[in-house]
Amino acid sequence: MRLRNIPGADNAIAQSSYCIKEPETHKGIWQEVFPSSQPLHIEIGMGKGRFIMDLAAANPDINYIGIERYSSVLLRALQKMELSPLPNLKFICMDAADIADVFAPEEVARIYLNFSDPWPKDRHAKRRLTSRQFFARYDLVLAKKGRVEFKTDNQDLFTFSLEEIPEAGWHLDASTRDLHHDPILNEGNIMTEYEEKFSSLGNPICKLIASR
Ligand code: SAM
Repeated sequence: MRLRNIPGADNAIAQSSYCIKEPETHKGIWQEVFPSSQPLHIEIGMGKGRFIMDLAAANPDINYIGIERYSSVLLRALQKMELSPLPNLKFICMDAADIADVFAPEEVARIYLNFSDPWPKDRHAKRRLTSRQFFARYDLVLAKKGRVEFKTDNQDLFTFSLEEIPEAGWHLDASTRDLHHDPILNEGNIMTEYEEKFSSLGNPICKLIASR
């Protein structure tokens, strides 16, 4: 994603009640930031937030947290939330490498990863959000019956992710390399910003679901 330094983004995030500051202080008690106590699903690398906002609007009985590393990107989601607030959605500006400092064991019921950065160089493989190193972090916060759902149009990253799942000691529950033509996995699919952009260019969308 091309990033612009947006003046005031850090300040807007600091002022916003939709963005949780010092997230590690909520470890184990995330339900307190929402009006209702209900399952918690998170998206890592949510970008401008379209997917998680549509998901939160469609599922008021789930609490959602969107995680994004860059304030300049997260700002776009905050602006959308100000126009249509959702009580069951909060944001965190952080590097997901630190999620085990922020969520307690089994606190998260589901993790969404959408169009994650591919980090194409081999020496950067451990930075990929579907690397075994990241699965080990998800293991620390995900409920026993929880799952990771991952979508991408990047075939190499998808192949890498399929290979990492058993290496991480996880189980592949389902996968497709053509989500939009898979009647089962595509049912109820909510498109992300990148998904809409790349599928409109003719790129097939890949999806996998993994659990332990
Ligand atoms: N998920 C969105 C979509 O599908 O439209 C955005 C995809 S964009 C290619 C990937 C996003 O993940 C970027 O906004 C990037 O800043 C964020 N990201 C990548 N690595 C991250 C990490 N370790 N922690 C938090 N966010 C991360």
